[in-house]
Amino acid sequence: MVSLIPSPDTVMQTLTRTGAFRVGHFVYPTGKHSPHYFQMPLAFRYYDTARVLAVALSRKFRLERDISSQLPKIAIISPSSGGIPVAFGVRDALSAEQIYWAEREADGKRMFRQYVNQGEVNPCIIVDDIIRSGHALEETAALVKELGATIIGCGAIVRFTSAPDHLEDVPIKALVEFDAHMYDNADLCTDCKENAPVEHVRF
Ligand SMILES: [Zn+2]
Repeated sequence: MVSLIPSPDTVMQTLTRTGAFRVGHFVYPTGKHSPHYFQMPLAFRYYDTARVLAVALSRKFRLERDISSQLPKIAIISPSSGGIPVAFGVRDALSAEQIYWAEREADGKRMFRQYVNQGEVNPCIIVDDIIRSGHALEETAALVKELGATIIGCGAIVRFTSAPDHLEDVPIKALVEFDAHMYDNADLCTDCKENAPVEHVRF
């Protein structure tokens, strides 16, 4: 099979062009500082770009025998709203049967929609737009187990190298492995030392 997976550089060019990746001096709501900022939905607002990224990620899954042999009886699962366009794109490319997504309730708990456990739940691939800490994946994996389903794949467009590279024994696929620089506070931030203007970001 010819591999048509774009290189990490090509993916980063796409993310930069669409505004999904920015370079500057950013302060997160947690108080952390960083010279980089990802806002992945900006790449997924363009249908053609969304399709190219999702198809590329799907190819990494298709190469896995344990996944390709179980198609189409697979569910693609998103931990949050940001991963929904990725989930639909990957589902489309793999012709997988099901899609679920989790959402955060008012109390902050991650949940699937009620009654989703009724009916057959296929083996799952969890996909997200970006993996920063891996916490969303771990919470979603726990929900998948509550449904009685197995996890056979996991991946995202971008994974921070500080995040886990496996979800339990499943390797995490990513189009870009990004070495993110995060400073816990202004005193540690190199941009602050140079008095670079600050931009506050919401996520
Ligand atoms: Zn700073």
